[in-house]
Amino acid sequence: MSRLDGLLDALRKFYGALPKPPRDPFTLFVWEVLSMHSTPQKRDAALGALKRIPALTPDAMWRAPQKKLEESVRLAGPYGEQRLRALRTGVDIFRRTPKLPSIIRGPVTSARRALKGLPQMGEGGAYRMLLFAADQPVLPIDARLSRVARRLGYGEAHKDFTKTARSVREAVAHELPPDIDAYRRAFLYLSHHGIATCTEGDPHCSVCPLLHDCPEGQRRTLHH
Ligand code: SF4
Repeated sequence: MSRLDGLLDALRKFYGALPKPPRDPFTLFVWEVLSMHSTPQKRDAALGALKRIPALTPDAMWRAPQKKLEESVRLAGPYGEQRLRALRTGVDIFRRTPKLPSIIRGPVTSARRALKGLPQMGEGGAYRMLLFAADQPVLPIDARLSRVARRLGYGEAHKDFTKTARSVREAVAHELPPDIDAYRRAFLYLSHHGIATCTEGDPHCSVCPLLHDCPEGQRRTLHH
């Protein structure tokens, strides 16, 4: 068992089972757009409303009455206009490229190229799509996961986030078996830990289940 396995097991015991992002590529795209500046509860309310219209396929969303679409999207919170614009762009791309769901299951370079035009699909979003909706063993690195992993001693910070992301990805992947579920589990728990406990400004190290094995946590609790 690697050190990372031990850390992930401890997080699993601490948080219990965590909800997974949707498996369907279009639904996952919508989920990403609704997640930004929202909370899991509001995002899920908006997603549920879109499902009831129904508007969770590219064609269904294209046909959906504008008013219903707006009302549903606003359940996710502010930035309604931006979300609707992002969804419109995404609907166009998915309808123009019906093969998108199969392209993203192919070679990662072509997959990433195919996702480039999608709004809300930065470094983290594109890789989340590959991991959860295309069964590719890749690790999405967003600011949260990067912070948690580096505090635990995986990878180092560079000025350029792409470089930081690469160093974190390599360090974490080094301890992961080439197995899709292992990658999903690592992403879900490290990223959730970054929202729930290992927050940016004020990590709650004294209650953290990883404290005994975390260099940053040791440093912080020693100085208090
Ligand atoms: S001990 Fe502190 S810094 Fe380390 S993972 Fe836990 S919350 Fe983050």
